Amino acid sequence: MRTGALEIDREALLAQAVSGAFPDARGRYGPFGGRYVPETLVPALDRLERGVRDHLADPAFRARLESELRTWVGRPTPLTHARELSRRWGADVWLKREDLAHTGAHKINNAIGQALLAQRLGAKRIVAETGAGQHGVASAAACARLGMPCVVYMGAIDMERQAPNVGRMRLLGAEVVPVRSGDQTLRAAIDEALRDWVSDPDGTYYLLGSAVGPHPYPYLVREFQSVIGLEARAQMLEQAGALPDVAVACVGGGSNAIGLFHPFVRDTGVALLGLEAGGTGTGLGQNAASLAYGTPGVLQGCYSLLLQDEHGQIQETHSVSAGLDYPGVGPEHALLATIGRVTYEAAGDDESLEALAECCRAEGILPAIETAHAFAGAKRYARAHPGSRILLGLSGRGDKDMPTLQRTLLKGNPS
Ligand SMILES: *Cc1c(COP(=O)(O)O)cnc(C)c1O
Repeated sequence: MRTGALEIDREALLAQAVSGAFPDARGRYGPFGGRYVPETLVPALDRLERGVRDHLADPAFRARLESELRTWVGRPTPLTHARELSRRWGADVWLKREDLAHTGAHKINNAIGQALLAQRLGAKRIVAETGAGQHGVASAAACARLGMPCVVYMGAIDMERQAPNVGRMRLLGAEVVPVRSGDQTLRAAIDEALRDWVSDPDGTYYLLGSAVGPHPYPYLVREFQSVIGLEARAQMLEQAGALPDVAVACVGGGSNAIGLFHPFVRDTGVALLGLEAGGTGTGLGQNAASLAYGTPGVLQGCYSLLLQDEHGQIQETHSVSAGLDYPGVGPEHALLATIGRVTYEAAGDDESLEALAECCRAEGILPAIETAHAFAGAKRYARAHPGSRILLGLSGRGDKDMPTLQRTLLKGNPS
């Protein structure tokens, strides 16, 4: 749904954002966020909001979450000094290693947090959506850990494209349900999971995978992912002896980026840089860069920036990275972009794959193709700011991307 131009007071919103005022009581981030949902969903969201308020700050809940993060997820994840990339780029580059978290990416931080909350709320089963399959795998793992049944909705097209992750979810005990409606990809899977939740809002919990959707999800996901930035901030002070000049992360729905950025928003001396999927070009349908090229509108319960045409029709997106291939973005990023606290740029398919190859050889780390977009952005930043101290959110590992890497970087060099 397309909703016209924005009139905002940037200075006032910036001051509020820096003082931690968002979301407000209505779940809004300035003009963005909120809840644009059918009546049938309101009781379920109200219940969830009460649950968030009652349990998230509860010491017993925090202690249980911290114990799972430490002994099952493997936190804190290390901060690695990227010696060779620093030398090559003429900067001081530090990597926050979410690739070393259980199941290979940051998504597990949110999955185990929400699964614990679901248990507290008395839910008997969990439903989740997945696109590339990473959130489905994290949800399946978290549910197995807590002994809860898990149903994962996945677009039929995605199930074919991401067959190994379907197998992983099933081994972890989840039921994977193919979605044949709509675009048969992530967007249709989210709609289907919401429908399931509405039919049994007391017994079922919907475990949403990124910082998107209706309030309170963008807030809830940010709270569980902020562990990334909180750890990284302390590790920078301890290991580098100072805060970074810039923190860089890739942005799909925006969960790893908001997790890294949020603890730095008040540090106005720290620049923040988000990298979206630039795909093959700037035209509609060639990328998935909602902040760079999008306009305001409503998608899946939330007012944010979207890739849509002049009639409000959501556009097809393209990215070499399945995990960044979504036409919307979380509402807090839309605000941070609009008030200029975070700079967002697009990195293209080719540039990102080159950066991935460079990281492999220089540091002995194979990052996810999503993460490679952050490497491309950090390299650009280093070139423009010689000698700067760069903190890069390494959101996940790239083993899952081998089929794509065989077709692209390794083309002509089989095995
Ligand atoms: C899913 C995924 C992303 C994109 O999701 P966000 O919610 O934007 O973080 C980025 N990196 C990796 C490794 C992922 O699996």
